Amino acid sequence: MANLVRNRLHPTNAVSYTITCNINYTNICISGCKFCAFYRRQNDPQAYLLNDEQILTAIGQGLKNGAIRVLLQGGLHPDLGIDYFERLFNKIRQKYQIQIHALSPPEIIHLSQLSGLNVTRILQRLKASGLDSIPGGGAEILSQRTRAALSPKKCSADDWLYVMEIAHSLGLPSSATMMFGHMETKEEILEHLLRLRALQDKSPGFIAFIPWTYQPGNTAKAAEEKIGRAAVSAFDYLRTLAVSRIMLDNIPNLQASLLTQGSKIAQLALKFGANDIGDLLVEEHVLQATGLNQDLSRAEVENLITEMGYQPGLRDTIYRFSHYS
Ligand code: SF4
Repeated sequence: MANLVRNRLHPTNAVSYTITCNINYTNICISGCKFCAFYRRQNDPQAYLLNDEQILTAIGQGLKNGAIRVLLQGGLHPDLGIDYFERLFNKIRQKYQIQIHALSPPEIIHLSQLSGLNVTRILQRLKASGLDSIPGGGAEILSQRTRAALSPKKCSADDWLYVMEIAHSLGLPSSATMMFGHMETKEEILEHLLRLRALQDKSPGFIAFIPWTYQPGNTAKAAEEKIGRAAVSAFDYLRTLAVSRIMLDNIPNLQASLLTQGSKIAQLALKFGANDIGDLLVEEHVLQATGLNQDLSRAEVENLITEMGYQPGLRDTIYRFSHYS
C-alpha cells in the first residue's frame, strides 16, 4: 500500500538524493536532551563555536565537493541571538550561491526567547537575511509525555508545530522529522503523524518527511538505561516508514535514512514508500557523536538507487531535480 501511494505521488522512476554541506556551528547547548551525545556545556573542554571564517571555508569546501545546500544546525547557545544569524546569513549570501537550510524549530524558539521578539518577526528577519528553508529537526516525538521525559528544556510539541505553521505562512518551506525507537508508544507515533498531517492540511509547507531511529551510543549511560531500547529492528523501521507513507499522503516526499539504517535497509526502504535516499553529507557531527559515520561517494549512492531499478536524480532542498544520471 505504501508503494501505491509513492507511485501515485511520484509516477516516474526517479529516486532523489542531495549533497549537503552540513555544518554544526556550535555544540554548546543549554537544553541537555537525554538522548543527545552531541551537546556540551559552555565550560566543557570539548565545547566549540565555529567562527565566521571557519563556516565560510567549510561552505567553500562543500561547494567544491558538489554541495548544493548548506544545513546549519547547532545547540541552543546562550549568547547567539538573531543579530548573529542575520550577519552570518548575509555573509554567506554575499560570498556564495547556495541554498541556506537552517535553524530547526527549537533554535527558532530559543532565538525568540533570547531576543524577546515573536516567532513571526524572527522568521521574517531570517528570511530577509537569506534563509531559504527550515529543517525539521527537534521534533523527536510530538507528544508532551515523551518530550517532558527526554527533552524537558526543549520547545514543546505545540511550539514546534507553531514555528512550522508560521514558517509555511511566510513562504518558508520545511521538512518534518520523527525520531523513534526510544520510550515512545505506538499510539504516540500515530499522534505524531496525525499532528503533522493536520498541520499540513491547515498550513501546507512540509516538503518531506524523514523518520529515523534513536541511536544509542555515547549518550550518557544513565540516560540510555532509562530511554534506550535495543536498536530498532529493520522490520520495525520499514513498517513505520510504510505507515508514514500511507498516513502522510499530503506530504509529497518520504526520505529513507541512509545514515541511520545503512545502505541495504535504505535500498529496501525504496520499496516501502520512500522516494528519496537522503543526503550525502559533506560534514556531519551530530550523528558522528553516536559513532555513526557515512562514508559513501556520490557514485556509490547512485549505484544503490540503480541496483533497485530506479533512476537517480540530484535534487535541491525543495526537491527540484537539477541532474539525472
Ligand atoms: S538535541 Fe539539540 S537541543 Fe537537545 S541537547 Fe542536543 S543539541 Fe541541544
